[in-house]
Amino acid sequence: MQGPSELFNTVVNGTPLAQRRAIAKSITLLESTRTDHRAQGDELLTALLPHTGKAFRLGISGVPGVGKSTFIEVLGLYLIAQGQRVAVLTIDPSSSVSGGSILGDKTRMEMLSVNERAYIRPSPSSGTLGGVAEKTREAMLVCEAAGYDVVIVETVGVGQSETAVANMSDMFVLMQLPNAGDDLQAIKKGVMELADLVLVNKADIDPDAAMRAQAQISSAMRLFGLVNNAMGAAQAESYDKNWHPQVMQLSALKNKGVDDFWHAVSQFRALQTANGALEARRKKQSLAWMWERIDAGLKQSFRQDPTVSRLLPEVLAQVASGQLPASTAARQLLAAQSRQT
Ligand code: GDP
Repeated sequence: MQGPSELFNTVVNGTPLAQRRAIAKSITLLESTRTDHRAQGDELLTALLPHTGKAFRLGISGVPGVGKSTFIEVLGLYLIAQGQRVAVLTIDPSSSVSGGSILGDKTRMEMLSVNERAYIRPSPSSGTLGGVAEKTREAMLVCEAAGYDVVIVETVGVGQSETAVANMSDMFVLMQLPNAGDDLQAIKKGVMELADLVLVNKADIDPDAAMRAQAQISSAMRLFGLVNNAMGAAQAESYDKNWHPQVMQLSALKNKGVDDFWHAVSQFRALQTANGALEARRKKQSLAWMWERIDAGLKQSFRQDPTVSRLLPEVLAQVASGQLPASTAARQLLAAQSRQT
């Protein structure tokens, strides 16, 4: 395997073809669990970091079949036609549960994947969701250092993976089907809160249904207090300076609504850059990631602690059978570990 400094040079300065190979090798290095690889990966990332941050990080989520890969393909080709370079990364939450894949078992984005201005990387295939998300975040930084202008991070619409993607993107887009509005229960408040923009896809199938869904989702978001439509004069002024989530229609298949969507993204980016929200969001995300990884590391070393692992089976059984309060058990185990160190 190439060393970190060689990889760094090719990622940052290589020809497009060499760059793509170096990106793939860098990501493989970063995904390796070997301790010496991890040290090399850390060296590489630290060197790359000053070259990152210029790309726009776009998160996209939606249930299987909503049209994510169809949309990312047309959006990617649209951006490439404008002279941009596009990277697509994926977080597949099923890989951390079953080792299988919801997203990876069909040929996706055929035209985009052969375009030399695009780089597509499937989800890391194993590990906890936190681990998979960490690898994807690192892959994003590698792509940015290589000069990709837009990094799209895609995930399937199931709970925590959406939060993970929202926490690494500048803008989080939720894709919905036209019938989503019929069942407002299905629109989870937590996910809506994450969305900077909602796209109602497949508007070509039934335009009336798409329009209804757009109105219903907008009013649900208003109900959640996410969209403010009753403004006083003072509010109207701050409204101009702050982004308010939008709901738009799309037909990814017919390539309708893509330019309107990108226009909204550009508005979002300009507004959030001008009012400082983008920078603040990235700072907050970096710190949150650090703490998330510290929590995961502490938990791992706690479980690996010899005293803890000796006591654990007995304590677990006692908590499960109701002999020992959970909080007392936790305190006892934590105290047992700290005696070790
Ligand atoms: P994903 O699982 O979210 O990636 O969804 P896909 O992009 O694979 O799309 C699932 C199916 O929906 C495919 O058969 C697409 O051709 C179809 N599809 C995607 N977008 C549209 C659209 O805008 N209109 C229509 N009619 N079909 C679409």
